[in-house]
This record gives sequence, C-alpha cells and structure tokens, in this order.
Amino acid sequence: MAALDGLPPLRDVIQRHGLDARKALGQNFLLDLNLTQKIARTAGILDGVTVIEVGPGPGGLTRAILALGAKKVIAIERDARCLPALAEIADHYPGRLDVIEGDALQTPFETLVTDGSPVRVIANLPYNVGTQLLVNWLLPETWPPFYQSLTLMFQREVGQRIVAQADDNHYGRLGVLCGWRTQAQMAFDVSPQAFTPPPKVTSSVVHLVPIENPIPCSAADLEKVTMAAFGQRRKMLRQSVKSIGGEALLARAEIDPQRRAETLTVEEFCRLANCL
Ligand code: SAM
Repeated sequence: MAALDGLPPLRDVIQRHGLDARKALGQNFLLDLNLTQKIARTAGILDGVTVIEVGPGPGGLTRAILALGAKKVIAIERDARCLPALAEIADHYPGRLDVIEGDALQTPFETLVTDGSPVRVIANLPYNVGTQLLVNWLLPETWPPFYQSLTLMFQREVGQRIVAQADDNHYGRLGVLCGWRTQAQMAFDVSPQAFTPPPKVTSSVVHLVPIENPIPCSAADLEKVTMAAFGQRRKMLRQSVKSIGGEALLARAEIDPQRRAETLTVEEFCRLANCL
C-alpha cells in the first residue's frame, strides 16, 4: 500500500536500497508515518519554516516534515547509503529538500539558512552524538540562537535529564544548561517497538524553546561550576566546589555550604558562576 504522500512505504525503500541498520551510526529507523507526523507536529505549524534535520536516514521523519508544509528541509546525513533514498524524496518535493552528506558534529548549523526564514531543528538523533549536539546548540556565544525551537528524540533517560529541575533525581549539568537558556518540555514517549530495529530502551521526544533573555552568565563558568558541583553530587557543596573556590566562593554567592548540588536552582548556579 502506498503511503499518504504518494511515495513508497518505508519498508520497501529500506529493502530496495539495502539500508540494513548499522549500530555504530545509531540507526534505529521509524517506519510509521503517523508517528513521524506526530513528532513533526510537536514543532508547531511549519508553513514558511526551514527545518534542519540531523540524520534523516531513509527519510521517514523528513517525509512527515515536508508533508506538513515546511518551506524547506536541510538534512545532514553521515551514511552515504541513504542518499539515493533521500534523492527520491527530493524529486517528489522539488526545491524543498537539500541533503548534505557529512557529520553533524562538524556542521556549522548557524550558516545553513541564508534566506532569512525562521529555522527549527527536528531530529530523531543518533544516540551516540545526540547529547553533544544538544550541548553545542545550547552554548553558542551569541544568543538568541539560529533556531526558534529544537524538537528532538532521545533515550528517555536523557530526555528526563534535559527537562529536570532542582530536587529531581535526574537533575544535573544537562538540566542546568537546558534550564538556563531554554524552556524544555517532555512531549511524549515512544516505545522500542516503534523502531526498526528496536532499541533496548524507551525513547522520548523533547521540545526546547530558547529563552530570549537568559540570566547573564558565562557559559564556560557555568560549565565549570556544574561540573565541580555534580562531580560529587552526594557531597555538600563546601566539599564538591573546593577546587574552584570552596567556602569563599559559596559565601560570595550567598549559598549555604551544607547544601548539595541537586538542590540548587538554575538561578543559583548562575550566581555561583558569576562569583568565580
Ligand atoms: N531520521 C531517521 C528516522 O527517524 O527513521 C533515522 C534516525 S536514526 C536514529 C539516526 C540517523 O543519524 C541515521 O540515519 C544515521 O546514519 C545518522 N547519523 C549518525 N551519526 C551521524 C552524524 N554524526 N551526523 C549526521 N548523521 C548521523
């Protein structure tokens, strides 16, 4: 049965192009176009929007984004085997899909869109580079960043760390960085059976929207204090931040040295960073 967009079913595409999934590339494909549309819809109305997608693979999510009316998709894919399948999608949507063969970790995302259209990032990320990509997107020197939002699939445990706030079990460096510069929300979970091949754990889609005016703070200093504080998360701050200023630093920031890292709000972490 042909899919709603008139392109062949993804299972056929994968078979025809010999796209057996490679673990080293974090390849777990989504074949259900209803599910990929649900992910794409999490990014909001896409009319007039240029979407950057990392890792389109055989193109399930790419097809959903295009079918939902994005002005253009710029997709970065490392696996050259996927390019012929993606070329078929590009032919079906003339002028609306550009595929760049390359490594997303080396891609200068902020320079990809030159027509002034709003940019959103949507991706079912390869698990092995997902967190690093997110941190890169969170820490550019200029803010607001090049994107209006990030709609990203992660392993559920990573998603929980992204949206975690003070006093949550999952709160750590990632939660502080995300909370400092974005409003991060858990959208929904996706069971392992939705993927081919199924991964070991449940996944989650998270949606992050940049805060226009985050608390003024140096990203490097915030990294320094979160790394020290969460490096010994069970210890009191007087011990865990010893190497970066200890009790004197805590006194300057007016933070009780008996507290533990996981109880500090993002605002308090910024205060600590600003007192370094
Ligand atoms: N978007 C497809 C889907 O939802 O079915 C595939 C998602 S799969 C989890 C991750 C994709 O990222 C694969 O196609 C893989 O080849 C690609 N990939 C892995 N590492 C990459 C990297 N460093 N840069 C760009 N793409 C990468």
